[in-house]
Amino acid sequence: MINLELEKFTLPGLEDKRPLVIAGPCSAETEEQVMEVATDLKSRGIKIFRAGIWKPRTRPNTFEGVGEAGLPWLKRVQKELGLYTSTEVANAKHVYEALKHGVDILWIGARSTANPFAVQEIADALRGVDIPVMIKNPINPDVELWLGAIERINQAGIKRIAAIHRGFSAYDKKIYRNIPQWHIPIELRRKVRDLPIICDPSHIGGKRELIAPISQQAMDLNFDGLIIESHNCPEKAISDAAQQITPETLEYILSKLVLREITGTTEPLNELRKQIDELDNDLMAILAKRMRVAREIGTYKKENNMTILQTTRYDEILNNRISQGEKMGLSSEFMSRMLKSIHEESIRHQAEIMNEKEG
Ligand code: PEP
Ligand code: MN
Repeated sequence: MINLELEKFTLPGLEDKRPLVIAGPCSAETEEQVMEVATDLKSRGIKIFRAGIWKPRTRPNTFEGVGEAGLPWLKRVQKELGLYTSTEVANAKHVYEALKHGVDILWIGARSTANPFAVQEIADALRGVDIPVMIKNPINPDVELWLGAIERINQAGIKRIAAIHRGFSAYDKKIYRNIPQWHIPIELRRKVRDLPIICDPSHIGGKRELIAPISQQAMDLNFDGLIIESHNCPEKAISDAAQQITPETLEYILSKLVLREITGTTEPLNELRKQIDELDNDLMAILAKRMRVAREIGTYKKENNMTILQTTRYDEILNNRISQGEKMGLSSEFMSRMLKSIHEESIRHQAEIMNEKEG
């Protein structure tokens, strides 16, 4: 467990209820667009507005945000509509500009969190300022790097901190734009107990249809809040058009969320958990046994001068097991990840045998 000096992540007048919702467009595009979305969101009960002013884009020559010119628009949202405002900062200049214009909450984007120099620069610019800061996970699934960024910001004196889970970059974007790897935010929560975690289903999913199921999953995993991209005309958005939803859709999705009890240690639940414990024990015993057999194969291959990896055999195992698993209700994605991981461990065992010094 890591102890950070944290205070409750809140602002005056914000109701203490789950989920904390932050909504607004990916990018502030024009003053009219900002005011229109914010007005609509306010009428649907949203209290915190998001809009990117400086946009980190993967490729050059794409829209990189309106820059400082958009900050007075956020000021209008705050003054005229009474919403809290939030935006992304990626360097010290962004921090100074955002603070000068009275932005209420800052966030650090995924690309910045991956870079300790950038995070430290932001932390130094924030020293002596009391403002809530949200820290997105780094693009790579590295809980230590995420935690490091949180510690840097905390050590600069920022006490109201929340983490944002926005998924992790993957070469193979089959379902998600950024694969969720839920165990990473869960691990972060285990390491820093009091840290609120907000889910960003927009950047995880990359498409509108996934926002509702990912939000529900986040609630089922006890996440504290949701940050959701919302635009008055999603299809025409200049950035991230495929994943934005109208304020109306947002209101609908939020109204359908099922919020289950966080703590529940009822008898039936304890009983089920006991079963899970036992099954995990069985799983480990079987895996250990499988590794012992793999070692025997390693000995045999060594004595007969054969290589460890035999691709056709491995392909055969993968294909057979995946279709067998599917018949048993296990997804092919899960089966493939699990088998690869077991295979890696078997190879490690066999390599150990192969490289053992004789006598
Ligand atoms: C964003 O929130 O619009 C954004 C750029 O997100 P991320 O840093 O998660 O890619
Ligand atoms: Mn975006």
